Amino acid sequence: MIDSDVHKVIIIGSGPAGLTAAIYSARANLNPLVIEGEPSSNSDQPGGQLMLTTDVENYPGFPEGVMGPELMVKFREQAQRFGAHMLGGKVSRVDLSGPPHGVWVGDPNTPEPTYRAWALILSTGARSIMLGLPAEERLIGHGLSTCATCDGFFFRDQHIAVVGGGDSAMEEANFLTRFASKVTVIHRRDELRASKIMQDRAFANERIEFLWNTVVTDILGEDTLTGVKVRNVVTDEDSVLDVTGLFIAIGHRPNTTLFEGQLTLTDTGYLVTQPDSSRTEIEGVFASGDVQDDVYRQAVTAAGSGCMAAIDAERWLEAAGHG
Ligand code: NAP
Repeated sequence: MIDSDVHKVIIIGSGPAGLTAAIYSARANLNPLVIEGEPSSNSDQPGGQLMLTTDVENYPGFPEGVMGPELMVKFREQAQRFGAHMLGGKVSRVDLSGPPHGVWVGDPNTPEPTYRAWALILSTGARSIMLGLPAEERLIGHGLSTCATCDGFFFRDQHIAVVGGGDSAMEEANFLTRFASKVTVIHRRDELRASKIMQDRAFANERIEFLWNTVVTDILGEDTLTGVKVRNVVTDEDSVLDVTGLFIAIGHRPNTTLFEGQLTLTDTGYLVTQPDSSRTEIEGVFASGDVQDDVYRQAVTAAGSGCMAAIDAERWLEAAGHG
């Protein structure tokens, strides 16, 4: 292998963490290759989870708020402006026995990796958790959704439901009232987990109603969603909610399957980084964003940790003689 075949930095993932790492490493002349991901029905698509969100009101620098997808377009343009190379595609396998480390895009069974890099920045993010009901696979995209921004438009003047009691559920419910005639929030307890401001906004919205102490036990419909079976966990009473859409907003899981067996994962599947650093336990492998953060999980913290990963990678490359 000749050194010129080996990239200095490959960044896997193109959410706020990956694209911030791209901006910083491009500006450090490291010529980064960003493997962006592929469009999918869940949240590991190019641009990350903000592609599935609506108004972002807490990203500094946007006093009027900004739409999630618009913000990610700006991140991407900024990275490209400094020479980051974008590759649409999904990483199918990594070999972290280097450096250099191997990255496969497409067929994972070819003996040689598609790309090699001295430094890898893993920014694969997290995805929506599903309820685990058999009907989910059949009805996703046919009345069942994890993305109000993508699908809300289809439910104009209809009664729909949202499952969950966190900020995501409140955000989705509020957004969906732009289209739906009524939004029922189904929550398994009698108290929300969402922040006070999001709760207040949802309670003040007259198109939102709450079904407390309630779980979804089945999703009805063959080709398209026709209703939701629910159970009150206090009374054990079953009933059917007559809705045409269901949005699942019960949290997220990190996208770490690719790294299983090669990097240490926490009990909940997140990558482990060294304190105050983006370094993993493997030389030349750095992690940033939601894939390693189960505490803050904000776009701005993900962006911050992408910056850390780029600086850590730059310093490591310099010290290892690959700078
Ligand atoms: P979350 O805070 O973990 O809330 C998940 C919600 O889903 C909880 O209410 C939980 O119920 C419920 N839930 C979990 N598993 C369930 C199941 N199997 N069946 C039924 N209900 C279930 O997740 P999130 O709302 O996605 O938020 C994640 C993080 O992102 C949070 O830190 C949040 O603040 C942040 N966030 C911020 C914004 C914003 O500020 N604009 C927007 C979205 C997210 P329990 O309450 O009973 O556990």
